[in-house]
Amino acid sequence: MVRLRFAPSPTGYLHVGGLRTALFCWLYARKNGGKFIFRLEDTDQKRIFEGAENQLTSMLEWSGIEIDEGPQYGGIHGPYRQSERLDIYAQYIRLLLDEGNAYRCFCTSERLEKLRNEQRKKGNTPRYDGFCRNLSKSEASRRAESGEDYVVRMKIPEVPETMVLNDLIRGIVSIETSQSEDQVIVKSDGFPTYHLAVVIDDYLMKITHVVRGEEWIPSFPKHLLLYRYFGWDPPQFAHLPLILNPDRSKLSKRQGDVAVEDFRNNGFLPESLVNFVAMLGWSPGEDKELFTLPELIREFSFERVNKSGAVFDQEKLNWMNQQYIQKLELDDLQQRLNPFINKTPYAGKDQKILRKIIKILQPRLVTLSEIENRLSLFFENNPEASDPEVLKVLREENSKQVLANFIKQVESVEKLTKDNLGDLMKNVQNETKIKGKNLWMPLRYAITLDSEGPDLNLIVDLFGKERCLHLARSALKF
Ligand code: GLU
Repeated sequence: MVRLRFAPSPTGYLHVGGLRTALFCWLYARKNGGKFIFRLEDTDQKRIFEGAENQLTSMLEWSGIEIDEGPQYGGIHGPYRQSERLDIYAQYIRLLLDEGNAYRCFCTSERLEKLRNEQRKKGNTPRYDGFCRNLSKSEASRRAESGEDYVVRMKIPEVPETMVLNDLIRGIVSIETSQSEDQVIVKSDGFPTYHLAVVIDDYLMKITHVVRGEEWIPSFPKHLLLYRYFGWDPPQFAHLPLILNPDRSKLSKRQGDVAVEDFRNNGFLPESLVNFVAMLGWSPGEDKELFTLPELIREFSFERVNKSGAVFDQEKLNWMNQQYIQKLELDDLQQRLNPFINKTPYAGKDQKILRKIIKILQPRLVTLSEIENRLSLFFENNPEASDPEVLKVLREENSKQVLANFIKQVESVEKLTKDNLGDLMKNVQNETKIKGKNLWMPLRYAITLDSEGPDLNLIVDLFGKERCLHLARSALKF
């Protein structure tokens, strides 16, 4: 049975890159009837961010990714927080030390700093020089017992070797062990580093496929060596391409939102975010862009993940979100809009009226949060026009003529609905000799106050004679 894990460190929010890693693991697990495991890699005690674990799991749940095993989900291979596994690591650290595959290093930070500076001066890449590598075991034990601070380093073989990885996405990747130094695997606080903990946990949790970002490729020789030292078969690996900004720089917080929570708060649907994130690097075999989760499960494979960086195209995400919003049932949309409506002064308005408004707005909404700015049109006596394009058009002489005539026409009829709007506007056209865009745009802008507003016919129908007259009269004063 396949078993895949998502193993974030609790250092912050769930990044879209993390969502993609989790999603690919989950899709593959679901496709193959396997399990998806959440493991918290919290061995770097200095970088723990309060509440991160809940943040991470709740955002996965929001995205529709179900966790089969994890700290709050149970499972027979736990504990699933690395900080609760220290006694497990201790056994394996002892084994590495006993068998001479790792050693205690007592070098002080001053010595290491000096060493690095000298190496840099000579133009070499800083790396540990193996100073403590040949201390006798008895001497090292004596110093450790006497209370001296130490770390544990794994040994990189003295005779350089080429380590080969058969990556599910990249194919054969080879790296020389000479590019690695004797990596610290236990820090002076007694906690293992990522490199040691990840290998032990992936093995003990029976992980079959390790999926992670390509930034981990340089680490695999160390990991493969650890598998060898322990006498374990390594799992399969898939290293995902970077996610890039349109200028091909690495996607980071500075350029805008990267946290899943931000996308949720800004009114993106989980369906569209997940669909979009799936396409960051993966592509289906067909010319289709909208995929539900069950469809993604059916279609997903590592063979169709690209090696090259995937550009994060916000416009594409907006487009997808709009598509998904349009497809929602009205009740469902209304429910999803409620948290956003609740932030406005119109929270307590009649649900039936809100429903009518939502129906009119549905084809236009790109994000759910846009509702917040669109409701004042329906509820304020004198809604504000802030769109500069709208103000510009409404201030033109042509617009004033159209609106004045429109007012005259409407005053002469008993009712204004979408059914007589066309005839009334014909009259306006005949009397003003203004037609086409110059005729309709002023009216649309006066009534919707928005250059990308909803369908005019539907709004006129909802507003009726008095409100349309009021809005047209107000627009004349802009
Ligand atoms: N804790 C690592 C991270 O947050 C996990 C890397 C891996 O999946 O091996 O990037």
